[in-house]
Amino acid sequence: MKVIISYPPLDSDKGTPLLGQNRQFQWFSDPTYIYPIVPAAAATLLHRHNYQVIWNDAIALGWKYNKFLEFISLERPDIIVMETKTPVVSEHWRITKELKALGDDNWQPKIVLMGDHVTALPKETMANSEVDYLITGGNYDTSLLSLCEHLKKDTPLAPGIWYREDGKVKNSGQFRLTGDLDKLPFIDRELTNWRLYSEKNGNFRRLPGTYIMAARDCWWGRCSFCSWTTLYPGEEWQVRSPKNVLDEIGELINKYGVKEIMDDSGTFPVGKWLREFCQGMIERGYNKQVQLDCNMRLGVLKQDDWNLMAKAGFRFILLGLESANQSTLDRLNKNLKVEQITDGVRMAKKAGLSPHITVMVGYPWENMADTQNTIELAKKLFKKGWVDTLQATIVIPYPGTPLYQQCEENGWLKTKKWEEFDMRAPVMSTKTTDEEIRQLTQELYRSFVTPSFFLRKVLSIRGLDDIKFFWRAGRAVVGHLTDFKA
Ligand code: SF4
Repeated sequence: MKVIISYPPLDSDKGTPLLGQNRQFQWFSDPTYIYPIVPAAAATLLHRHNYQVIWNDAIALGWKYNKFLEFISLERPDIIVMETKTPVVSEHWRITKELKALGDDNWQPKIVLMGDHVTALPKETMANSEVDYLITGGNYDTSLLSLCEHLKKDTPLAPGIWYREDGKVKNSGQFRLTGDLDKLPFIDRELTNWRLYSEKNGNFRRLPGTYIMAARDCWWGRCSFCSWTTLYPGEEWQVRSPKNVLDEIGELINKYGVKEIMDDSGTFPVGKWLREFCQGMIERGYNKQVQLDCNMRLGVLKQDDWNLMAKAGFRFILLGLESANQSTLDRLNKNLKVEQITDGVRMAKKAGLSPHITVMVGYPWENMADTQNTIELAKKLFKKGWVDTLQATIVIPYPGTPLYQQCEENGWLKTKKWEEFDMRAPVMSTKTTDEEIRQLTQELYRSFVTPSFFLRKVLSIRGLDDIKFFWRAGRAVVGHLTDFKA
């Protein structure tokens, strides 16, 4: 059985979509590509079970749509699997129809969609498209294997798969995130064309870089806006053992010559797990061979933890600040105090790490002064030198999240056209105008451009890799300014 896991081209004058492995969809003027780790795990698992698998990220390959259709016609796969997200789901309905139309008397591909949007609203996609199957929940790998085995051997379907039977839409029950992640094979990097993602990513300072995932997805998993809590509810958190993750890092260093690794778990594990992992990095000497990056929550780690992480080879730490207003943090169920923000980034920086913060604007309950307060805090942290980089995004209530539910209850949504949920403009009614939000966001990016910032960067240059990194990072900032232009 031949399976193609694909990201079809999405031609748009908005830019290049950042779709795979992304919690908040965005079109980028200066494309960045994130390794879609869970779909890559699915490709690997199917391959291990003797399915013929083709990895086809036509977005990262820069293909035109016609080339993609020709490729599918030539390969004639039994199954085409696509990851989708709210702003492009209707595009995927159209593409599904066009893929089906390629079929003939001897060949008709089955189409499978997966992702947070179809997990939240499966009936909608079954009703509005010709899709054959939906995978709900975030374990794309084990779910897809179950579906293929079902089609090949008529074994029972794992829970969480939607299908059609006798003209009716049915499903195999509510998905469950069970299974031992340590038992899964390490991602087959060659099969999934890892080089496509090893350089065009602004986060990597050392090249080539790649991604791993120690956990699915975040041990907190309860923030009301977080789209991936739809795929991975916090109470069903799954984590690999430190040894298993270390073994994969060893393989990446020794087999692929990787110099930087981003762990893309929603939040990296903490406590005893983190200490054991860091000790392992030091004992195995990996801390001298590779730099690590990860997502972390503020308000959890003490100075000793940050110091140990730095010693273990961590460099770039992404931290969600979200808002400088306590009432907003509480509404978001962020479980964070404003004062923990400053303490956290200060400690991380003191340990020698490179903190990156994300802030969000466009909350329906925040007024201009509240938004300004957040922007001012971000600027202050940046000016103090406690954060190295920052990112501002417009908060989007994706279906399936508690925030979306609140929008429905309070009549906050200005639109239900899914293509507008792409972070270019607010989709919730706000007390600030769209123009004010755009200006504030641009102002934040412009605050980078200070003489002391450039001086700090120049002083931190240690070699050619650093110069190349700052060149790429500079282009990304200019790109972000363009992304938020009216
Ligand atoms: S801490 Fe981050 S990954 Fe975890 S639920 Fe909140 S936003 Fe999502």
